[in-house]
Amino acid sequence: MIEAALLSHAVRLDDVTVTHYCTCSRCCGKSDGITASGRRATPGVSVAVDPSIIPLGSDVLVDYGDGELHYYRADDTGSAVKGAHIDLCMESHEAAIQAGVRTATIYFIEEGAI
Ligand SMILES: [Zn+2]
Repeated sequence: MIEAALLSHAVRLDDVTVTHYCTCSRCCGKSDGITASGRRATPGVSVAVDPSIIPLGSDVLVDYGDGELHYYRADDTGSAVKGAHIDLCMESHEAAIQAGVRTATIYFIEEGAI
């Protein structure tokens, strides 16, 4: 029910490329963990987006087609994150590499839209 209410306010994007990063200097070119939004990057919560498509601060729901929605927050941007592409923050560099590249349908809801 909650998800149905959320999705009625959401914008849907299909065939979005999902990549993974962590807060290390190899991924970010710096290691302070501070994102483009000024928030600290939080593994399992933060996602980097192209802000011309998904506004910073949006809730981002990721559907890999397994019947489960995964919730993130658009906290960050990245020079390589353009268009239909999101970059999920992981707890370690190894986890980011292991998660690889996936494709998903995503839904985003602008901050304050509900
Ligand atoms: Zn890393």
